Amino acid sequence: MRRIAILGSTGSIGCSALAVVAAQAERLEVVGLAAGRNADRFAEQVRRHRPRVIAMATAAALQQTEAALRAAGAAADAAYAGPEGLLAVATHPDVDVVLCASSGTAALDATLAAIESGKTVALANKEVLVMAGGLMVEAARRRGVAILPVDSEHNAIHQCLHGHDPADVRRLILTASGGPFRARPQETLDAVTPEQALEHPTWNMGPKITIDSATLMNKGLEVIEARWLFDAPPDRIEVVVHPQSIVHSLVELRDGSLIAQLGVTDMRLPIQYAFSYPDRWEAPLPALDLASCGRLEFERPDVKRFPCLELAYRALRGPAGLPIVLNAANELAVEAFLARRLPFNGIPAVIEQALDLGERRAAGGVGTLAAVREVDAWARRTTAEIIRKVEST
Ligand code: MG
Repeated sequence: MRRIAILGSTGSIGCSALAVVAAQAERLEVVGLAAGRNADRFAEQVRRHRPRVIAMATAAALQQTEAALRAAGAAADAAYAGPEGLLAVATHPDVDVVLCASSGTAALDATLAAIESGKTVALANKEVLVMAGGLMVEAARRRGVAILPVDSEHNAIHQCLHGHDPADVRRLILTASGGPFRARPQETLDAVTPEQALEHPTWNMGPKITIDSATLMNKGLEVIEARWLFDAPPDRIEVVVHPQSIVHSLVELRDGSLIAQLGVTDMRLPIQYAFSYPDRWEAPLPALDLASCGRLEFERPDVKRFPCLELAYRALRGPAGLPIVLNAANELAVEAFLARRLPFNGIPAVIEQALDLGERRAAGGVGTLAAVREVDAWARRTTAEIIRKVEST
């Protein structure tokens, strides 16, 4: 029996993870659940999976959940509100694997705490490695803990690396869907609306990550994640556009052989892989039918039309704190785009200015989470200022 904790259980990854648990009831047990504010869905999950420890982001949400549980004659042994709750779920002594799927920066402390308490970490939160990759990987090495990627591309690379000597690996190749504007001419990109950008061709995701996929920043953030997960320098990580999202990513070996992982586009597959690793279990999913996939296409990403990818490489090659600046600037720029305060092409323009300033500041040592937060706060202030200036011109 693997004992699981899920941080972010009411989000899309969290719900898929609970579907995996339900399908693998003899192998997986939910010990802890943590969620933000969706009390109705959370109470239903707690009733169904009976975790020992639960946490919600606010006291009000927790009260609402507990009232719903009482009405149904259910309760958890321990219930918390706020950031301590996330920590309590992440470090509960009975937990073997912690799935970090809560969005944003709240997960930083909880993920580090899970690693420090010797838990296997299944990672679905991008910020954790983009903002504090060096710190997380170093802590995991020290504690002998595995960080297993749930993101489909990194999960694919993790699978492709199996049984290969790291010295034989030449390059990691991340596939990108290319987003909804892959074929759109440069001069029309400025007129793109939030509604158009929110139409994603192959994956169904939240607004922030969907915009990131339209700008290719999502892939840029994944390049940074790959750097830490697989200890690969930036010039050994490549991106290829593959609109069908059938090949989830590849590894190139010393002799030129490419090893790829293919599968249906369903997050339950990488989640189950992280829960079962190093074992493989049957999955209640249709196998990929190659003949019905049709043509598989691959093309180089157009960094002229989608400069965000290059900006991510630049951040990775710059001072240690620069990816934090990239991440914060992107978050604010995307928010401003969704609020119609910035045009689509304003997103990379704002990020570039933030990186210029961040480079000058040298965005120095980021050896602690406090230092990471300090750079993050600086980058948010700076970017907000940049956006205000852009708006007023
Ligand atoms: Mg991905």
